[in-house]
Amino acid sequence: MGVPLRQQIAVGSYLLKQKLKGVKKYPLVLMLEPLFRCNLACAGCGKIDYPEDVLDQRLSFEQCMQAVDECGAPMVSIPGGEPLIHKEMPQIIAGIIARKKYVYLCTNALLLKKRIDDYTPSPYLTFSIHLDGMKERHDASVCQDGVFDRAVEAIKLCVARGFRVTVNCTLFQGETPQDVAEFLDYAMELGIEGATIAPGFSYERAPKQDIFIKGQDTKKLFRGIFEIGKKRNWKLNHSKLYLDFLAGNQDYACTPWGNPTRNIFGWQKPCYLLPDEGYASSFQELLDDTPWEKYGNSSNPKCAQCMAHCGYEATAVEDTLQHPLKALLASLKGPRTTGPMVAEPTPKWVTEELKARKTIGGIPVRVER
Ligand code: SF4
Ligand code: SF4
Repeated sequence: MGVPLRQQIAVGSYLLKQKLKGVKKYPLVLMLEPLFRCNLACAGCGKIDYPEDVLDQRLSFEQCMQAVDECGAPMVSIPGGEPLIHKEMPQIIAGIIARKKYVYLCTNALLLKKRIDDYTPSPYLTFSIHLDGMKERHDASVCQDGVFDRAVEAIKLCVARGFRVTVNCTLFQGETPQDVAEFLDYAMELGIEGATIAPGFSYERAPKQDIFIKGQDTKKLFRGIFEIGKKRNWKLNHSKLYLDFLAGNQDYACTPWGNPTRNIFGWQKPCYLLPDEGYASSFQELLDDTPWEKYGNSSNPKCAQCMAHCGYEATAVEDTLQHPLKALLASLKGPRTTGPMVAEPTPKWVTEELKARKTIGGIPVRVER
C-alpha cells in the first residue's frame, strides 16, 4: 500500500466514527469536478463533449469549499476536465488543505511545469498524474504525440520538489498483462508513491466506443497482471479487496454514495460516470433522493460492465470493516489469480423486462433463474 500511515490513520478514524454513529451511507472520497474544459481530447473521455458554454463554466472557490464542507469526506479527488486550467485552483487546493482533507489533483500534467510554483508540498496534497501506459500506449490513448514525455518530465519535477505523486492508469482494449507490468515497473522507478489502475468505463459519450474491455476479459487481464505482480513490489493505491474484486474473486454491489460527485450542474446522481441521471441541489438531497437500488452492474444496463473504483472501492472498504480477517488474508496472499471466478452478475433488468412482456414476438416466455 502506497498511502502514508498518517493518511491511513485519518481515514481509518473517520470510518470508525461513521460506524460508531451508525451511519449507513457515508462518503469516502468527494469527486470535485470544477470544470469540464480540457487541453486534451482522449479517445476514452466522457467529459469533454459538452457545448462551449458548458465547457466555459467553472465552480468557484466558494462553491468548491461549500461542497467539501457539505460532504465531509476525508479525501477529495479533483478530476476534470483539466483542473490546472482553473484560475482559482491554487486557492481551492489551499482551502481543502486548510480543512485537513487529503486532496488528489488529477492532471494530464501538460501545464504542471508552468504551474508548479503555485503549489507547496504538503502531506495533504498529491498530484495524481494521468498515464495510461508506456510512451506508445499513452500517446495513443490521449490522441497526441509527446504527452508521455511531458508527463514523465513533470513527475520527475514534482518528485524532486518533494510533492506526493501518484499515477492513475486506465486500461483499455489490447492491453496485455506484460504491457501493464512493464509500465508499473517503470512508474515505480520514477519514485512515485503509488499507482491506481482501473478498467476504462464505457462512456456513451466517449469519442471511441471499441476501446473498452468488458466482462471476463477485464478480470482475466487483472489476474494476469497480479500473477506477474507476485514477484514485484508495486505500490497500488487500492484496498486489497478491491484488487481481489478486479481479479474476479468478489461478488460486490456498487455503493456509489461512497464517491459522490459535485460538478457545475450540482450533485450528480448516482456517480460521476453516468451523466444523464439527474442532479441534486445538496449532498443531503443526493443521499435522500437518489434511487440507489436502480444502479449497479446487475441492476442497470448502463452499469453492466462497470468495475470502477468510484462504485466498488467503497464497497471493498466496507467489506474490509465487516470482515477484517478476510481482508488480512487478501493482504497477505494478494489477489487470487487461479481457480473459478465469481459468476457474472445476473442482469435483473432483462428478467424484469421479460417478466413484464410475457412474450417475445408473440411467443410466450417463462423466466427462470
Ligand atoms: S486528460 Fe482527462 S479530462 Fe482531458 S480529455 Fe483526457 S480523459 Fe478527458
Ligand atoms: S456501477 Fe456504480 S459506479 Fe459504475 S456506473 Fe453504475 S452507479 Fe456508477
